[in-house]
Amino acid sequence: MIRTFAELELDQNLISAIEDMGFERPTQIQSEAIPQALDGKDILASAPTGTGKTAAFALPALQYLQDFPRKRAGPARILILTPTRELAMQVADQTRTLAKNTNLNVFTITGGVMYEEHADILATTQDIVVATPGRLMEYIESERFDCRAIEWLILDEADRMLDMGFGPVVDRLSAECRWRKQTLLFSATLEGRGVEGFTEDLLKNPVKLEADPSRRERKKITQWYHRADSPQHKFSMLKHILTEQAERTIIFVKTRERLASLRLQLESAQIVCSWIQGEMPQDRRNNAISRFRDGEVNVLIATDVAARGIDLPDVSHVINYDMPRSADVYLHRIGRTARAGKKGNALSIVEAHDQEMIERVMRYIQEEIKERYIKEMRPEHKKPALKKKNKKKVKAAAAAKKKTAVKKKKK
Ligand code: ADP
Ligand code: MG
Repeated sequence: MIRTFAELELDQNLISAIEDMGFERPTQIQSEAIPQALDGKDILASAPTGTGKTAAFALPALQYLQDFPRKRAGPARILILTPTRELAMQVADQTRTLAKNTNLNVFTITGGVMYEEHADILATTQDIVVATPGRLMEYIESERFDCRAIEWLILDEADRMLDMGFGPVVDRLSAECRWRKQTLLFSATLEGRGVEGFTEDLLKNPVKLEADPSRRERKKITQWYHRADSPQHKFSMLKHILTEQAERTIIFVKTRERLASLRLQLESAQIVCSWIQGEMPQDRRNNAISRFRDGEVNVLIATDVAARGIDLPDVSHVINYDMPRSADVYLHRIGRTARAGKKGNALSIVEAHDQEMIERVMRYIQEEIKERYIKEMRPEHKKPALKKKNKKKVKAAAAAKKKTAVKKKKK
């Protein structure tokens, strides 16, 4: 097991960039993926959010470009695909920071950026391009981008790309990059629908890496929930938490409409916030994120679509103001806090109809999430006794199954 960056056989220029970033030792996925990637292997890697997957592919990519320097000017040699433009910019930023002692350059091709800017870019030599699939495909179709020089294809947040319906486009991009030497695929989970079939065509005999993060990397999120009697009660608790407990908070809501109404409520309570939602012009999203990142505001409201894959530093609290649609989205959300060794808090404010979801989440993460109370805001309603009901449901389902089995036998 590799424990230091020095053991990874990276060039000194990369090591000193890593040191400047304050990374002391590689995370588990980094120490597993980097040697395999440099060994020429295809990689299928999964590791939870916040465990340093970006550097796990960016570092070997940068090392590879230095080991095999280009002979003449030309198009991109490494292509990184990400599901969203924010994520593309973050990956590009981090890669540039790691590459700061080299001459290698990194570009992004994403939606929401003026065409002219890209046009300039594409006339120059590129080493690494970070792109969103849809936009890149448009570029290829109009012959403004050429994949023939791509040597490594890297897919970041592959599960999200599939969720967002990018599967077919990624397949086409994979075909465009058919002369590549290596493919690396990174994902928070490999469990989602279709990931298996999807990866089969993309990767050649991949090394499968599943980083179950070490204790040092996980378990630093304190999770709990509050029960609310009504929307008003819910908002009072939120206000209390934001003003009395939380420092830097992301609040998740389920729709744009919910976001809009919460925003107004917070404004009238004089709590300053910024917000991001799926359909929002690029500059406004960037603006919202940088206001939050720079500490100008300490509350960010987000929908799940908008928050996919974004790395927002130093978040003390993730609040599920609306419960997510599924347990794995819950995990993605709470992964926004306690990143790379920091401590964090994740809390949900649930109404009676959410009780079932919070219990499903507990089963999924196989951990108990405890209920907490806020003084003078205790819920009046009793906790719905879902467990019994669920048991009944299970029993009924089991009985039904038996019945059909008997029927089949009779036939
Ligand atoms: P993931 O893609 O797995 O969600 P990121 O690559 O976005 O995670 O990294 C999460 C955070 O951890 C980033 O802020 C990153 O700078 C930091 N980080 C990455 N690698 C290390 C490391 N080896 N030591 C400390 N912090 C790290
Ligand atoms: Mg990532």
